[in-house]
Amino acid sequence: MLLRREVAEKLSLVQQDVEKIGLGLKVFDCYRPWSVTKQMWEILPDPRYVANPERGSRHNRGAAVDLTLVDLKTGKELPMPTDFDDFTEEAARDYPDHDPEARRNSNLLGYHMERRGFEPLVTEWWHFDSVGWQKFSLLDVQMDKVP
Ligand SMILES: [Zn+2]
Repeated sequence: MLLRREVAEKLSLVQQDVEKIGLGLKVFDCYRPWSVTKQMWEILPDPRYVANPERGSRHNRGAAVDLTLVDLKTGKELPMPTDFDDFTEEAARDYPDHDPEARRNSNLLGYHMERRGFEPLVTEWWHFDSVGWQKFSLLDVQMDKVP
């Protein structure tokens, strides 16, 4: 899992915050090389879910993270509105018919992420951008080539 140092440091603060309430973070995705975004776009060319490679994704900048909450006692993921990478309207934070518990959990994740300087993406409950992501450039370094 790769992130810009500043972003990783903020994320570790979130981790410490949620540990106090018996929860942990489970990270699905962080940095993603630009060429991967391009492949994803070829499979799903829908800007609601995949970044247009012409502009690049915040994941390509190492400034976005996809994650959920887990219960530290059981190690299980908390119920959330949908599975990760479920590209449907139900994945949206403002979808009106979420199960109340799932909505509570998603709001809890949002609260803790925003508190430490991340902004949520409306269409995907699991995705957060680091505030200030614009200052990081697009990268296309393969995972095994990162120093
Ligand atoms: Zn994402």
